[in-house]
Amino acid sequence: MLKFDKNELYIEQVKLSDIAKQYGTSVYIYSKNQIIKNFKDYKEALGYRDGLICFACKTNSNGTILKLLADLGAGADTTSGGEIYRCLRAGFKPAKIVYAGVGKTSEEIEYALKSKILMLNVESFEELDTIDTIAKKLKTKAKISFRINPCVDLDTHSYIATGKKGTKFGIPYKDALKAYLRAKKKKNITIVGIHSHIGSQILDIVPFKLAAEKIKKIIESLEKNNIKLDYINCGGGLGIKYEKNQKILTPKKLISELLLVFDKDKKFIFEPGRSIIANAGHLLTKIIYRKVSGGKNFLITDVGMNDLIRPTLYKAYHEIIPVKRINTKKVKTDVVGPICESGDYIGKDRMLPTVKQCKYLLIKCTGAYGAAMSSDYNSRPKIPEVLVDGKKITVIRKRANYQDLMLNEI
Ligand SMILES: *Cc1c(COP(=O)(O)O)cnc(C)c1O
Repeated sequence: MLKFDKNELYIEQVKLSDIAKQYGTSVYIYSKNQIIKNFKDYKEALGYRDGLICFACKTNSNGTILKLLADLGAGADTTSGGEIYRCLRAGFKPAKIVYAGVGKTSEEIEYALKSKILMLNVESFEELDTIDTIAKKLKTKAKISFRINPCVDLDTHSYIATGKKGTKFGIPYKDALKAYLRAKKKKNITIVGIHSHIGSQILDIVPFKLAAEKIKKIIESLEKNNIKLDYINCGGGLGIKYEKNQKILTPKKLISELLLVFDKDKKFIFEPGRSIIANAGHLLTKIIYRKVSGGKNFLITDVGMNDLIRPTLYKAYHEIIPVKRINTKKVKTDVVGPICESGDYIGKDRMLPTVKQCKYLLIKCTGAYGAAMSSDYNSRPKIPEVLVDGKKITVIRKRANYQDLMLNEI
């Protein structure tokens, strides 16, 4: 929901340079209507089929955004006790919360069970035993799925980060039946489903389908052993368009193809994160200085790797555009932050105007794994987040101050 009007960039009906003036920079800005649209695309893709669209809240755990999605009927995919807490606070029904993670602690498991969430996605044999013990102590039965690593071996697709052989995630495909048989014997465990999440920023249907076919095979072997599942959780991972010419898969295409693989009587869970929130959020930054060094042009901005770590961490690409169209020559430029680390950059070799009139830049599609991964490294207080709805701007996280930096220090 970004568009230029008379050379000024708008998000919904708000001029970005106005947000900079009103709230200062840098600032994360979200389009409420883009979030709603993205969620509805998933809802519609699921159609009349029974199931849940669980927002992967590690991508963005701002309470206002979580509440917006909860109100739209979303479920939540969580990865820690803290996320379960946030989601309950935001209004998600416990019966719509699922919980995955390779290292759930006893405290987190106890909290999840007491909160009566829909299910825990179990990732190891030891974890199963721990959950059973804790459920016994609480005099309850724990509802579980196993997260299965389908071991899809597509070496050409390096983006399959979590669903190939030899990662820490899930239970390897070959041990799946063994895991379910073990769970079946446990008195305080109720088996409810199967889960697989193969990676992130996936733009191709092939790995999703390969994983689904493997999960289907497991379901068939479970049925032969009298284990019936209610839920099939296909995880998240759908990619978004970070680069102009990238071709993306729609939720509709993804879900319709996956539903073809499985029987109609199952309940389905999808766990989109990035594809719900990434393109709804952008990071607005001010250029502090321009300089030329070693024959290179630099734009030094007030966004550092503590505010947005994706370029540093994953060499992620984010489009960077001036919020005002300026008729001037563009030159090859590195856009960098103020932090004392050479890895602190936002974009390299970008064609941008380096004139003074170009004051603000927008770092696009940073709604996912942006604010959620930010820190106050270099003692830089966390930046604010605002939500735009038409003409209305709401601050949904205020700018932290210097005192906040020392919170909890003794
Ligand atoms: C991170 C994660 C997701 C969401 O992945 P996206 O690529 O952001 O859609 C879903 N499920 C699990 C278990 C995850 O860890």
